[in-house]
Amino acid sequence: MYLIKTPWWLRALYPSFIWKINTNQKVLYLTFDDGPHATETPFVLDQLKRYDAKATFFCIGNNVVQHPNIYDRILAEGHAVGNHTFNHLNGWKTKDEEYINDIDKAAKEIDSTLFRPPYGRITRFQSSVISRQSSIIMWDVLSGDFDTDLQPQRCLANVLYHSKKGSIIVFHDSSKAWERMSYCLPRLLEHFTQEGYQFKALSVQ
Ligand SMILES: [Zn+2]
Repeated sequence: MYLIKTPWWLRALYPSFIWKINTNQKVLYLTFDDGPHATETPFVLDQLKRYDAKATFFCIGNNVVQHPNIYDRILAEGHAVGNHTFNHLNGWKTKDEEYINDIDKAAKEIDSTLFRPPYGRITRFQSSVISRQSSIIMWDVLSGDFDTDLQPQRCLANVLYHSKKGSIIVFHDSSKAWERMSYCLPRLLEHFTQEGYQFKALSVQ
């Protein structure tokens, strides 16, 4: 069970997390979690380039070690990166010290003050420690591209319907998401470019 649109009351419970960017401009913030991936990340980068779009990649430290050239390409093409732990740990199921150590290990590979907890699951203690050095980035539109029961057309319709000015939108450059992400991304870029939107990388302090 997951929600496509983050409800206001969930944002209100965690006001120090960043859920969306307040703006009147036609700007969207695409984010891609769980890469770098050998084939999916280059696909994403190629699509973004066609629209002069920038995005933010929340990388798994272990995947950066596996695919350093793709990680370098993300940076070279002007996108932002964020820390998504080294081993994609679930904060609710991981001891605090182990969780923080895993983030520190990832930080040796990923130079960023942006952090997104895998599964969006993090305890208050963990977030209080991380917040000293990083901004915790959540989202207001979850594409559901990881949901293998979701039709690609439905995934696209959800994202087009819920994305508003300043939305932070989650996709995944992972094998599991491929069918939906590869269908949605080019169509989303085309749709919102036609509507006069720009796509920017996150830069928050
Ligand atoms: Zn993840």
